[in-house]
Amino acid sequence: MKFTLFYQIILFLFLTIITQIGGLVFIVSQIICKKIRRQLFWEKAFIFTVLYCFTTFIVVPPIALVFGRERVISNKNLKPANYWTIILNRNYVKPEVNNLLSKTSDKIMDLSSNIRIHYLDANFPFIDGFPLFPHLSHNDGKKLDLSFIYKDVKGNQTNLLKSRSGYGIFEGPKENEENFTLQCKNKGFYQYDYAKFFTFGTINKDLQLSEKHTSKLISLLLENNFLEKIFIEPHLSRRMRITDQRIRFQGCHSVRHDDHIHFQIK
Ligand SMILES: [Zn+2]
Repeated sequence: MKFTLFYQIILFLFLTIITQIGGLVFIVSQIICKKIRRQLFWEKAFIFTVLYCFTTFIVVPPIALVFGRERVISNKNLKPANYWTIILNRNYVKPEVNNLLSKTSDKIMDLSSNIRIHYLDANFPFIDGFPLFPHLSHNDGKKLDLSFIYKDVKGNQTNLLKSRSGYGIFEGPKENEENFTLQCKNKGFYQYDYAKFFTFGTINKDLQLSEKHTSKLISLLLENNFLEKIFIEPHLSRRMRITDQRIRFQGCHSVRHDDHIHFQIK
């Protein structure tokens, strides 16, 4: 009995850390299962899944508005890199972030209707200060990660990505570029490249970073006055010749940012 309680606590914590609401949904589903006397594993799993989906797609969005957050609004040129971002409630931002995304995707559309911006982890729906693991700073609705834009072996821009999660495949420094990963790891910040464990599978290995389109995307983000800062690894901002005081190095205590773009608003 105690053994079961131990596993239930672990599951509660895991679901809360990954989805914010999953732990609470788990408790409610356990109570329902007890009331209606459904104790088989598949019965419990089914009831949890139905309740989780109902809560995620029907209950959470209107309540999140009370907390000043809404889901990232997709359009033809703006999509999630991975639909798990939505299923796990990791797609909530302040309305100002959606305004910025809408303007940026419109401008990208003017350039080419074929270019797609892929968003990665945003924030959870509720509570300022509640971090979105493993991004400790994604805790106030003001932060969002975007994928780089890639090109294929022929040099043509593509909307494919290099990992299933959108994270963990690095565009490392060339020999003549400053290597912050090495510097940070030499200082003892061993977590600096741990995103490599969160690719959930490498895909499209032949793709290369499209410096032209990625730098254009960053420039369009920078056109917004209420954009506070962008994190990208210094060797990439120098390689793409983007200079703006809002482009910052995130520091060795964080993780390397040569697999995605992080931005935040004021
Ligand atoms: Zn981020």
